[in-house]
Amino acid sequence: MLSEMNEPGEKRSPDAADAQAVETEEPRGLVLVNTGDGKGKTTAALGTVLRAVGYGYRCLIVQFIKGSWMYGELKSIKRLEPEVEFYRMGRGFVGIVDDNLPREEHEKAARDALAFAREKLTSGGYRLVVLDEIFVAVTLGLISVRDVLSLLDARPPQTTLILTGRGAPPEVIERADTVTEMREVKHAFRKGILAQRGVDY
Ligand code: ATP
Ligand code: MG
Repeated sequence: MLSEMNEPGEKRSPDAADAQAVETEEPRGLVLVNTGDGKGKTTAALGTVLRAVGYGYRCLIVQFIKGSWMYGELKSIKRLEPEVEFYRMGRGFVGIVDDNLPREEHEKAARDALAFAREKLTSGGYRLVVLDEIFVAVTLGLISVRDVLSLLDARPPQTTLILTGRGAPPEVIERADTVTEMREVKHAFRKGILAQRGVDY
């Protein structure tokens, strides 16, 4: 297809050809999964947001588990408004020492996040939707695998959906187009180095 657009004998650099391909192809949304126990799931999703905003695409980020998201990102996202919208759902850490909320509260928060994400996704107004830590909500039993699959069914074809979190269910991996498993080779935390500002949050 690209060669048809070239003058006979005209040589194009690969970069120019790539740029042309980007402009002429219909946008096609994908389903991406960032999972595994190594670092990089959320930050890779944010890197993709950064890339999309470069083209002026509207992006939505919904955080399912509050507390896993720290402040560096929140400040940067403010600079990316109005293209990027960020919503923090969930009711904080689940099942740890300072979690005094009844489980029903967490379940309701996760269900609300799901319904909200679904409404936004089906609006078709976004080229990229990130559902951060959604698999953690599944692992905790706050939402079901079926709920996630039903979101995939509802995705408009031109919208790319990125799902992050440890423990992506096999059914979702099966349905996704691109799946990356971050594997921990080493993490500074293991030698007692606590989370560092600007790197870990
Ligand atoms: P990041 O937000 O840095 O991309 P992530 O989304 O892959 O990390 P999460 O499971 O969401 O990882 O954990 C978020 C926080 O925990 C971050 O501060 C991250 O640096 C840290 N973290 C990630 N992986 C590990 C690990 N294997 N050991 C200890 N801490 C980790
Ligand atoms: Mg994360």
